[in-house]
Amino acid sequence: MICIPITAKTNDEAINDLREASRFADIVELRIDYIKEPDLNALLKSKTKPVIVTNRSLRQGGLFEGDEIDRMDLLKKAINLKAEFVDVEYDCLGKIADKGVSKIIASYHDFSKTPDDLPGIHASIVKSGADIVKIVTFATDIRDNFKMFELLKATGFPTIAFCMGELGQISRILTTKFGGRLTFASLGKGKESAPGQLTIDDCKNVYRISKLNEDTDIYGLLGDPVSHSMGPHIHNASFDAVGINAVYVPFKVEAVSSFLEMSKKLDIKGLSVTIPHKETSVNFLDNIDVIAKNIGAVNTIVNRNGKLTGHNTDCPAAINSLSLTIINAVISGALKMAKIEPSPTGGSLPTLKDRKVVILGAGGAARAIAFGIKDKGASITIVNRVHQRAENLAAEAGCQSLKMHKIHKCEIDVLINTTSVGMHPEIDESPVPSYILKKGMVVFDIVYNPPETKLLKEARERGCIVLNGVKMFVKQAAMQFELFTGQRAPVKLMEDIIRKRING
Ligand code: NAP
Repeated sequence: MICIPITAKTNDEAINDLREASRFADIVELRIDYIKEPDLNALLKSKTKPVIVTNRSLRQGGLFEGDEIDRMDLLKKAINLKAEFVDVEYDCLGKIADKGVSKIIASYHDFSKTPDDLPGIHASIVKSGADIVKIVTFATDIRDNFKMFELLKATGFPTIAFCMGELGQISRILTTKFGGRLTFASLGKGKESAPGQLTIDDCKNVYRISKLNEDTDIYGLLGDPVSHSMGPHIHNASFDAVGINAVYVPFKVEAVSSFLEMSKKLDIKGLSVTIPHKETSVNFLDNIDVIAKNIGAVNTIVNRNGKLTGHNTDCPAAINSLSLTIINAVISGALKMAKIEPSPTGGSLPTLKDRKVVILGAGGAARAIAFGIKDKGASITIVNRVHQRAENLAAEAGCQSLKMHKIHKCEIDVLINTTSVGMHPEIDESPVPSYILKKGMVVFDIVYNPPETKLLKEARERGCIVLNGVKMFVKQAAMQFELFTGQRAPVKLMEDIIRKRING
């Protein structure tokens, strides 16, 4: 169930928000501590969904400034008015002599951490006579969410449990899968009642929380930062399109090794891997496929019966997109044939063989692309801001490196930007001066947001054949989806979602 808290500051606004929230929520929470003089009669009359009445004191992170007797009197009034649920702090339960027809949610909050002894805290609240236990703590580590899941799995008692804060967001999404009675979602941005609360739009339309149940498989993105990822939008919509009971969530992780151990315990079925964990993750896997092993970096981890296998879909996605662009350019006459490769389907294929490729950047994506292109027989030069990294990658991939200020001396057939220069919001930047861009050169910028970077705009104006990162992004996600689920990815849907989100 999804509960929307009403955090309006006046009775009229609260009545409006109650009506609006009732369109989307299964249940609403009336935070009367937010309203100076709450008119409980009018407020409860206007609701159309079951309500939780909460009057949180300053001590418990609320806004009620009056004395304790007045605070409890308002809650007793809500009971007299037959509110379905009344939230009372677990240590104030004794102050409610008669709960009438209302069910009492006994709540425990910790705004700074997630204690280790959640089962002990839960047991003592159950004993105190609560109808429903609510335990909400602050996540300082991604693993705190797992403590909540363990608590929920172990109890049969009606319980609401999740973590606050950015690191606790996954527990807000997954709590109902593990038996949590409800999660809270704000009516919109700015209307949150606690840190880390997702909007109702995200809960319903991105994570489809109402559909999650104990059989839902968990997938996610392992990285840091993860908050702006498109992964949840693409993968969750794809699960729906293909009819798979699964959810994809962002895991903001610092320590990869302990997270991967826990991911096995929680039976997380698959992970996308992003900055900064693509290379480190390799050390903590049970198996790694040949492409990822050669590259030394993974962007996909699949859990098969408790064994983690690493893959790299960035590499084939980039090579595939680039090869197609070259083939199309040759067919249209925009690009001269280089070497002809025999095609697997007969005939011949113009590819990257013997083309002079300059890769800008020496990070994870550069690695994947350098090894992939090397395989195609191209001559590669790596150019990077920190030259030592270019030298290291060049040595590993068996190619050359060049200092950035000498790039104008380089003969280039294909220029590939794998740096983040030009990516939103730094859209007025280009990794190279425009005078090095020559007519007929293929320029591939793997940045996909914006779809036309400054580099690509200048390249197009100078008569280059240009390719942005959207196709690569869609392909790597589609290949990932297929590794995760064994089913064909809805590629068109994925591309539409990405283009819509970046206005491309
Ligand atoms: P990464 O491992 O962190 O590498 C970042 C690279 O960018 C490094 O070479 C770094 O140079 C360079 N760089 C960063 N800021 C720079 C600046 N101000 N000036 C010059 N160089 C700078 O990241 P990654 O995983 O390789 O990803 C890089 C980019 O590719 C990101 O924009 C990412 O979104 C994009 N990407 C796209 C796809 C796709 O499917 N289209 C897939 C993967 C990645 P130093 O070594 O000197 O720091």
